[in-house]
Amino acid sequence: MIQKCVYWNSKNRCKFCGIELSLQAGATLALKTPRQLAETAKKARETNKIKHLVLTNGAVNPSRRGIAYIADCVRQIKKQVNIPVHVQIEPPEDAAELEEFKDAGLDTIGLHIESFDMDILARIAPAKAAFGLKRYESAWRKAVQLFGPNQVSTFLIAGLGERMESIVDAARFLGQAGVYPFLVPFRPIPGTAMADKTPPDPDAMLFLYEKVSDINQQNGMSSRQSRAGCVRCGACSALAEFEKW
Ligand code: SF4
Repeated sequence: MIQKCVYWNSKNRCKFCGIELSLQAGATLALKTPRQLAETAKKARETNKIKHLVLTNGAVNPSRRGIAYIADCVRQIKKQVNIPVHVQIEPPEDAAELEEFKDAGLDTIGLHIESFDMDILARIAPAKAAFGLKRYESAWRKAVQLFGPNQVSTFLIAGLGERMESIVDAARFLGQAGVYPFLVPFRPIPGTAMADKTPPDPDAMLFLYEKVSDINQQNGMSSRQSRAGCVRCGACSALAEFEKW
């Protein structure tokens, strides 16, 4: 929706992120209007039978303004086509702001901390680290109240240099709160500060997928129970392949 991020031209930009690269390359629009998105969703449903929709954007300041815009996009899309919709945003300062999404008819939400290894997070995604776990936790808990368990997720990116236990501990902590830990391997994006870094070792991913999927099973969560979004799609992660129960 919004192809710009308030952190892009600052030292707080997330080092793995390429949000404005496609904009600089002229491959997209800075802002997609609710109407454009609704028309596109309708067309995609008619022609490609899409079953759910993911809406992403950069960070907006203040968060209230971003949430109002995104909620309007959700409302317009839902008016045109009846499919589950997923939104990804940073956790607002006041978690109650998330209620606007519920009113708009949103189905699932991603509030992405990326890593529970706070030293790594401070180096790779300083703005997210500055929020601290408390702000994420309060947003996750409010979101689970609004959308239900398994319908709220966070990315956990493996391969940023974090301690492996931080991912397993995170999955336990999140699962108990009803938040789906969406484990993904780091993939370097050309043009970003981490373009020359390598993805994590496949054996390390195998170990993590097994651990995290076991924890999800214990918590009664699975990708297929998610109504919309990255967890349901699963193209960026093999986690769903380990959910055999
Ligand atoms: S906050 Fe989101 S959009 Fe902004 S730099 Fe970080 S990952 Fe990219």
